[in-house]
Amino acid sequence: MEMHDILKTIYQEVKPLASKGEVADYIPQLSFISPDKLAISVHNVDGSCYEVGDSDTPFSIQSISKVFGYTLAFKVLGPDIWKRLDKEPSGNSFNSLVQLEYERGIPRNPFINAGAIVIADIILSHYPNPQQTLLDFVRGITNEPSIRYNHDVATSEKLTGYRNTALAYLMKSFKNIHNSVEDVLDFYFLQCSLEMSSKNLSKSFLYLANHGIVPSTNEQILTVSQSKRISALMLTCGLYNESGDFAYRVGMPAKSGVGGGVVAIIPKKLSICVWSPPLNRFGNSLAGIEALEKFTTYTGDSIF
Ligand code: GLN
Repeated sequence: MEMHDILKTIYQEVKPLASKGEVADYIPQLSFISPDKLAISVHNVDGSCYEVGDSDTPFSIQSISKVFGYTLAFKVLGPDIWKRLDKEPSGNSFNSLVQLEYERGIPRNPFINAGAIVIADIILSHYPNPQQTLLDFVRGITNEPSIRYNHDVATSEKLTGYRNTALAYLMKSFKNIHNSVEDVLDFYFLQCSLEMSSKNLSKSFLYLANHGIVPSTNEQILTVSQSKRISALMLTCGLYNESGDFAYRVGMPAKSGVGGGVVAIIPKKLSICVWSPPLNRFGNSLAGIEALEKFTTYTGDSIF
């Protein structure tokens, strides 16, 4: 089957599944999205792309932004980053507090909230204008100057972000947050509020599918080794406490967000984004995961 036919088939097959999930409402602004939105976009490293559904509609990328934040922090700190956090799957939900107390304020990995908050702290310490740097980075790798933060979403999360506030203060008590908690959380919430379409998200992950180099411009974002390491973290930690099941069923490094997006890559080949807002009990897109499982099944392609 041609790629476009595969995507159309998957679209039809997963469309009814969305009704089994729940749209995130703990961030009030996210609850207004239509649960019926569905998009699948594929970008190949050779420049070709395929898409079905609402692939041009920007949505809240939420935790998918942790990959961009981590990339910026890893670029400046290199392996020293591991003095501030670990690289093990957590086995707990993305906003869990339990491990952080007995592991003395060192988050398990950069993709759970605690880890991403430490990454936000690192970015604040090393970049003079973090908000603009992150935005320029994402606009640059997609060549899409219209990408923006959604300040209403960021404010909505700030007003109700009790768990993230608790995580940040707990880490501060262990001296693992260097800036003010308020500044760090403001940046973290803004980062999560980035809005991108599935088309732009699949394009944006091509540097990870292409060993650190943006294929369309040849710009080197990361070394081959750094790119390998981020992909390894996505495989082991990208879907929180569903990462093992996802690796087993799908077989691609991936990152999800509570806005209902999931982006996954096959190194040297492609990047794929699925967007369907209703989430499963792990906070990952229910239809999105099904779609990605079908994708590797129908194409016979995965990292294994
Ligand atoms: N901004 C969200 C939060 O901190 C991101 C979580 C997610 O997408 N899993 O709760």
